[in-house]
Amino acid sequence: MAVSQQVFLRDAMRRLNLTRDVFAARVGVKRRALDTWLLPEGSQEFRSMPEVVLRFVTEIVENESLLNKYAQSVQSGPLRDRIAVGGKHQLLSVEQFGRESVEELFRVADLMQPIARRQKVSRVLEGAVLGNLFFEASTRTRVSFGAAFCRLGGSVCDTTGFTFSSMAKGESIYDTSRVMSGYVDAMVIRHPEQGSVAEFARATNIPVVNGGDGAGEHPSQALLDLYTILTEFSRLGKLLDGAHIVMTGDLKYGRTVHSLLKLLALYRGLKFTLISPLGLEMPEDIIEHVAKLSNHVIEQSHDLADVKGADVIYATRVQKERFSDEQLEGYTADFQVSKALIDQYCDENVIVMHPLPRDSREGAHDLSVDLNDDPRLAIFRQADNGIPVRMAIFAVLLGVENLVQHSMRDVTWNPPSHIGPEDAVFHGMY
Ligand code: ASP
Repeated sequence: MAVSQQVFLRDAMRRLNLTRDVFAARVGVKRRALDTWLLPEGSQEFRSMPEVVLRFVTEIVENESLLNKYAQSVQSGPLRDRIAVGGKHQLLSVEQFGRESVEELFRVADLMQPIARRQKVSRVLEGAVLGNLFFEASTRTRVSFGAAFCRLGGSVCDTTGFTFSSMAKGESIYDTSRVMSGYVDAMVIRHPEQGSVAEFARATNIPVVNGGDGAGEHPSQALLDLYTILTEFSRLGKLLDGAHIVMTGDLKYGRTVHSLLKLLALYRGLKFTLISPLGLEMPEDIIEHVAKLSNHVIEQSHDLADVKGADVIYATRVQKERFSDEQLEGYTADFQVSKALIDQYCDENVIVMHPLPRDSREGAHDLSVDLNDDPRLAIFRQADNGIPVRMAIFAVLLGVENLVQHSMRDVTWNPPSHIGPEDAVFHGMY
């Protein structure tokens, strides 16, 4: 097998669109056995699947009619060409993806997991330099893109804020982008104006990734969010098709929910409940885009009780920095996603997500900290997934994804098995 057992099985289940229970039944084993085959190779309970299962699964994957479309897309060249914008290898919007290409990217992200979990190292991007240009506040996106590039063997040059860049001297986006392109091999850009990253991208032929353009999009965040949902659903034995997804908070200015809603719409028959304070509703053009894609049900609400029956609650921060003349009314404590709320309206298999940062200041009513030791809170698993997904984005855009598997060596140090003191036992396992 060219890839690890975990990568092979996760990819097979995604391609066949089967839950763990159904997949185990189809292969003729107990769900418990399948779970042990899906653990990372070094973990104590890991078991190798029998050779006959490998051959059988390979055969059903190859024969499945659903797979015809994958076969076609594989024949039509590398992933980076299929998601290119105007022939360039850039990531500006989630609209560049279809369901097959997004799942192909996730296969690369799965491949990256041993590196992201500090079991392996790779140097496939040795010598390459990333320019991280952040003209707006950022912790996660900037550091995780940088760390992802470093974990593939590259190095990173950063610039943060307008004050310390030549833009403060009146330099145009075109000049900045063209000049930087002479220094680095890829750029990640965050900028407060919607559409500005596309403008940077037009001035260069090197890979550009949109790290957030005002209230526009945040494609890498949406990709890691979808990857998190699929991974959590796999553990819980659920399929994304037909799921109930609730988004709460500032849906007007929250770029993460703009990108995520469009990406989720690539799946079938979802129910979306969009709960916002008055005046911060999801923009109409995005709702129309989603409604056109498939037979989804979209409900809009101002009442948090409508989280009832959700499979996923995706909470967001109020983006006050983007307000023009809005008055924030009705954003009271009743609007806070908390343990009491999910205990009242949801079951033990709901997952609670947030792109972070959550505003923990008094009166902000952002996602409550009282869920911190509750395994339904997936926010740190979600943030951790930023590394393998962003590594996959770089590997694909720079065309090295096929070199990764053979480039891996064991790490020389010993990281702790769980990174956070309140991590769930399954954190990092599936
Ligand atoms: N970190 C996310 C973003 O940059 C969410 C947020 O800031 O609230 O859009």
